[in-house]
Amino acid sequence: MWSREIFNQLRLSSHRDSTFSTYTSARLVKDNIESCELIYELAEGYANKRHMLKGRVHAVNIKKTSKEKKIAVIGSGIAGCILAYKLAQRGHKVDVYEQNDEICLGASGNGILITYPRLSAFDSPYARFCLHSFLYASSFYDRLKTDAWHKSGVFIMNHDDSSLKRQNSLLNARPDKTLFEELNLEEASERAGIKLNHGGIFFEKGGFIETKALCQDLLSHSNINLILSSKIEKIKTDIDNHRIFVKEEVYEYKEVCLCTGHASEDLLDLPGLSPKRGQISYVDSSKDFENLKFPICASGYFSPKVQGSHVLGSSYSDVENDIVLEDEHADNKNKLKAIHDFKVKILDGKVGFRAVTKDRMPLIGINKGIYVNIGHGSRGSTSSPLCAEIIADLIDGRPLPADHEVVIALDANRFN
Ligand SMILES: Cc1cc2nc3c(=O)[nH]c(=O)nc-3n(C[C@H](O)[C@H](O)[C@H](O)COP(=O)(O)OP(=O)(O)OC[C@H]3O[C@@H](n4cnc5c(N)ncnc54)[C@H](O)[C@@H]3O)c2cc1C
Repeated sequence: MWSREIFNQLRLSSHRDSTFSTYTSARLVKDNIESCELIYELAEGYANKRHMLKGRVHAVNIKKTSKEKKIAVIGSGIAGCILAYKLAQRGHKVDVYEQNDEICLGASGNGILITYPRLSAFDSPYARFCLHSFLYASSFYDRLKTDAWHKSGVFIMNHDDSSLKRQNSLLNARPDKTLFEELNLEEASERAGIKLNHGGIFFEKGGFIETKALCQDLLSHSNINLILSSKIEKIKTDIDNHRIFVKEEVYEYKEVCLCTGHASEDLLDLPGLSPKRGQISYVDSSKDFENLKFPICASGYFSPKVQGSHVLGSSYSDVENDIVLEDEHADNKNKLKAIHDFKVKILDGKVGFRAVTKDRMPLIGINKGIYVNIGHGSRGSTSSPLCAEIIADLIDGRPLPADHEVVIALDANRFN
């Protein structure tokens, strides 16, 4: 247990007055303590143990804050904007590059993104990541105190046999109401403000973000410089720094973070990642459902009225172009049937490409010296805050906010 890695993390987590003690005084433990620049002394042990160890950090080794760095974040979707904000908050100077002349025109350009988890009744790194990233996202958006976060709650419907089975196993695994509560059809309809077709479970901490407005808030941090209409064509990495190539100019950075969604393969070879088209439909509001209070998710989803219309999502197809298709509107309407029976009028649509990995976990970490924050699939608003914190901690050499198995499961090199 008392490995070098643990002592190293202890040192990184310590302040000047931190102390530690351990029951063991084995040679290996002492060696690991010394090699991590901690100091120890022998003390009288408990019970039949002759000695134990007590220790502390060399005061000179305490890092007050990590050194301010010049960092490039490529991509201004939800993943790039949250990461830029976190780095800026820690004192780094961040340039955000976006190839388009506006932010959030990629997968994050949907108007709203619904923030909710895909939970499992069984423990696995994937399940832990889904749970922790959801809780983290909800409190991250709370702390921003922005009008672009609507903490309305999210209702997940049990609309067929498999969703019912899944919800029953979740309810058995977590009978408390800390994360979610079961609502029958009447309760769900009353809480939602419209007549629904099935019961399900309600996540109080869920909600939805108005993505562009939220990203604008994040990018207004004084340490962030947004550079639009600048497609990064190449990144060259040396031992000490990185050069990025844009419009025949070359700029140097201490660190580069790739947040380019499905378009990432142009800059870095990342196996295991593929684009998946999705189309949402903007639905005219009607007195039948204008009072809907929170998003309803079944095989598709239906949102409350935001900026005059409701968002009905979403298709999942292999079509490669970004033209809004009637077929995919029809697909969305079909999914809506499970949610409610009201007639809807579609006003318009929007197509995006999700960056999907083979195992549905994002690619987070370092690949060839570049920080990678992509592959957020269908859950970018839920996964991006925790992933940004992981990348920021990797850059600052701080202990990571996720357990080792989760970090390995997210590793940006796992399909190489
Ligand atoms: C139809 C649909 C519905 C969805 N619904 C939800 C939902 O309800 N809730 C949810 O959480 N998620 C949802 N998702 C998923 C979510 O949209 C994504 O997970 C998220 O937007 C990914 O964000 P991102 O920042 O990683 O990528 P993107 O938003 O795609 O951002 C990447 C950015 O990088 C820029 N870029 C790329 N290459 C370069 C380059 N070389 N130089 C400069 N800039 C570059 C792009 O222009 C783009 O702005 C949905 C996705 C789709 C398609």
